[in-house]
Amino acid sequence: MCIIAALFLLIPVEASSQSEGLKCLVLDAGHGGRDSGCMSKDKKYREKDIVLSVVLKLGKIIEEEHPDVKVVYTRKKDVFIPLAERADIANRNKADLFISVHVNANPSTVPRGSETFTMGTHVSDRNFEVSKRENAVIKMEEDYSTKYEGFNPDSPESYIIFSLLQNAYSEQSIKFAKFIQDEYAKGPVKHGRGVKQAGFLVLWRTTMPSVLTEIGFLTNQEDLKVLITDEGQSKIARRLADAFTKYKEDYESRNTLDNSPSETEEIEPEPKAKEPDTFYAIQIMAVNKKLSSNSPDLKGRGDALYIYQDGRYKYYLGRYNTREEASKELSKVRKSFKGAFVIVVRDGVIFSK
Ligand SMILES: [Zn+2]
Repeated sequence: MCIIAALFLLIPVEASSQSEGLKCLVLDAGHGGRDSGCMSKDKKYREKDIVLSVVLKLGKIIEEEHPDVKVVYTRKKDVFIPLAERADIANRNKADLFISVHVNANPSTVPRGSETFTMGTHVSDRNFEVSKRENAVIKMEEDYSTKYEGFNPDSPESYIIFSLLQNAYSEQSIKFAKFIQDEYAKGPVKHGRGVKQAGFLVLWRTTMPSVLTEIGFLTNQEDLKVLITDEGQSKIARRLADAFTKYKEDYESRNTLDNSPSETEEIEPEPKAKEPDTFYAIQIMAVNKKLSSNSPDLKGRGDALYIYQDGRYKYYLGRYNTREEASKELSKVRKSFKGAFVIVVRDGVIFSK
């Protein structure tokens, strides 16, 4: 219903504020509470229990081996957490990385193996089926239609919002997903189904590299044997921990390079006004909740757009090629919005005042 509104939304991206180290990791055990996730054919084993066990083991390894990393869990027990809240936890903690752990299922007992997803548009029906199943959880949430802007997990049309995503973190997310799949190949679930893209609501609003990993199929006998044992779960946690270590090392070596001053380093030119993805605008407010276009707060300026950044909805007016043009308008705008100021928007990110 409100999908149109989503068309105008500049997607949750945040200016990269990477400091030297990878400091915070958010671990998300899928499902929980009244949401069991998928189940084994005999209904004896539930996704929510298996992923919680794996996540707790994984967190423990990382806490021991990387005392410099703060590990945040979206849940540590059997409770229901809305999908949007999981992403919010990661955003609030300014996490550097987000891992959502799940178990796969299929009406057929044949499919088996692991696969890791990053946010994107599904290219196959099979990927769509996985995201549809994992997104269906929102139907258990109150007021899900408003919260997810009219998103219907079963309607392929709804997934158009994901194709509009300008995700600043795709590259890093895919890199991490590859590390995970490489590690999984060492077993115990050796069969790898690869790195894929699909529209997962839990990854939609995270503002850091994020993956959703399906560690195996509860509906496949071979995978099931591994997934339900303590030993199998420990080994999977070890693979994920090793993938994390690889990613952390890679991340930190990159950041060290980025930060080291170099005489030959070229200074990046100021954004040129002519570049199509850079423009000037007037920010009128930053609020915690999205406003409707007829909200009194917008004082009749239904044409205001917003960028979700640093956990807030930053509303702005206009689109100007130069700072001068924006500044000319500023005094008019300030009659209604006293605190308004000029911003530069580059690739959907607000860069400066
Ligand atoms: Zn799941």
